Amino acid sequence: MRASADTLGDVLREHSRESELHDTLADGSSRCYACGHECLVKPGRFGVCRVRYNEGGTLYAPFGYVAGVQCDPIEKKPFFHAYPGARALSFGMLGCDFHCGYCQNWVTSQALRDPAAGIAPQQTSADAIVAAALRLGAEVVTSTYNEPLITSEWAVAVFREAVEQGLTCSFVSNGNATPRVLDYLEPYVRLYKVDLKTFQDKQYRKLGGRLEPVLDTIRALVARGIWTEIVTLTVPGYNDSDEELRDIAEFVASVSADIPWHVTAFHKDYKMTDPANTDVGTLLRAWEIGKRAGLRYVYAGNLPGSVGDTESTFCPGCDGKLVDRRGFQILSDRMRQGECPDCGTRIAGVWREVANAVERTDTVQPPVKSNSTPSAASRSSRSSL
Ligand code: SF4
Repeated sequence: MRASADTLGDVLREHSRESELHDTLADGSSRCYACGHECLVKPGRFGVCRVRYNEGGTLYAPFGYVAGVQCDPIEKKPFFHAYPGARALSFGMLGCDFHCGYCQNWVTSQALRDPAAGIAPQQTSADAIVAAALRLGAEVVTSTYNEPLITSEWAVAVFREAVEQGLTCSFVSNGNATPRVLDYLEPYVRLYKVDLKTFQDKQYRKLGGRLEPVLDTIRALVARGIWTEIVTLTVPGYNDSDEELRDIAEFVASVSADIPWHVTAFHKDYKMTDPANTDVGTLLRAWEIGKRAGLRYVYAGNLPGSVGDTESTFCPGCDGKLVDRRGFQILSDRMRQGECPDCGTRIAGVWREVANAVERTDTVQPPVKSNSTPSAASRSSRSSL
């Protein structure tokens, strides 16, 4: 794609700096490794994401702005096995490497493709974002709203400051990563949510991606010891057949039965308005399929209060209720040192006192001690920088 001089593009160009995730070739082209597309970007052109561009043989990446900042319960990301009830300060830029018709963050993710989308970027600094997180009592800082892989340099700039201040850093991502970008993120990112949207490569291609890089990312995250939770937005007629849900659940279990799998409800949004909204019966069917596949922690999301106890965490040893949830709200938390208080079963996750690694299907890993962080309330609030 040829670089154009539209207003938003000009603004974003002022908020870019040289990429740290590319190789420069002899002819001045750049091979970008920020996401699984691995674009060859020639001078004067953009990558598929339309936010990284080659100017004069140098690849530039977005830097120094946000298009959205908000402080929410960590359960909204969603992370259910990390610091229950913590506040997470989310920040996002513009753009995505996919173009999903049902995107729930399309105003930011599709800003470079769709004239109906777009939010004015706000110039800021990593210090200001981290200061806002501390002011709001956040324990976690999250790169989200757009696809964070394509803006990894900015995320890492924020995360460096955040880690110094004792905060935990997380990614909310489509999982279309590369080994090189995971190497780059690994020193900072402790929690990673992946959307596993479908188990059919042809459906992924309609969204602008491929299945295999996403599966590779999930395997790699777990192998690297980065806490991973997986979300499948169940869309009627698109990915909600028993067969496809079983394929997804069995894949997740093949990596680790300890990975939390969130099956969430689609609601009509953006360009996908034909399917009906996902009903309770579909979510509960998906939940059953996940449990039958051997997953220890399956959660039905987006229909709070309508899905019985499938929003809560139960001990896989004695079936006692450990964390009672409704939507993003924690009603009670009986976990003690990452264990069930009744039978002592170790619960995989990143808890305040201890981090329990997942038991990988191919190997067993010992628990790893975590840095303790201060507790925080779960009330949602907006932040200004
Ligand atoms: S981030 Fe992905 S889509 Fe964008 S230029 Fe790099 S490889 Fe291409």
